Amino acid sequence: MPEPVQAAEETAAEPTGAAPPAPASPRLLVLSGPSGVGKSTVVRQLRAHHREIWLSVSVTTRFPRPGEVDGVHYQFVTDEQFDRLVAEDGLLEWAEFSGHRYGTPRAAVEQRLAAGVPVLLEIELQGARQVRRSVPDALLVFLSPPSWDELVRRLTRRGTEAPEVIDRRLATAREELAAEAEFDVTLVNTNVQDVARRLLTLWGIGDSA
Ligand code: 5GP
Repeated sequence: MPEPVQAAEETAAEPTGAAPPAPASPRLLVLSGPSGVGKSTVVRQLRAHHREIWLSVSVTTRFPRPGEVDGVHYQFVTDEQFDRLVAEDGLLEWAEFSGHRYGTPRAAVEQRLAAGVPVLLEIELQGARQVRRSVPDALLVFLSPPSWDELVRRLTRRGTEAPEVIDRRLATAREELAAEAEFDVTLVNTNVQDVARRLLTLWGIGDSA
């Protein structure tokens, strides 16, 4: 059974409220949720104060957006390179999303986990499902928008995608929202700092975010 929905705005109203029980010291935390919900902003907030959290850099076949740096935001690869990684079993999970492929390089994650480092994956639904199967003690967190209208606004306002790409991402977002119950915890992204604090508590890392 999934945990009851934990809304970040409720945390703000009740700062001493207990966090939902988490598996004992989850080391691998998966942050998922529809495109545009603000996962990257939450991740930036988390890591600004907690450099000990290691964020996996995914490989992708999509083209870089302005300002994205190869090796920092993603490793941008060709279809052939991606095929090779899949054939070598070099990816912990991978998925096709909005016409491109995305995947988590396996070796780097496994090395960090073996060393006891908290590892964060920021990935979409199909990938989260694969991690659920391959790393059963991972903690799966669903980041949900305050409302559908707000998600549409955020995705449109970003201004990085063409209208048909936004439409496709919104169609996928509906499917992702319907899968919320598969996750261990839901956090509503009303306030980035509250969400980051919640994640740290779930991780057992302390709460300055
Ligand atoms: P974007 O193109 O906006 O950077 O990412 C599109 C979606 O792919 C987002 O939901 C993002 O979280 C997800 N994503 C990024 N990296 C990975 C990955 O390695 N694996 C999977 N399954 N999804 C990813």
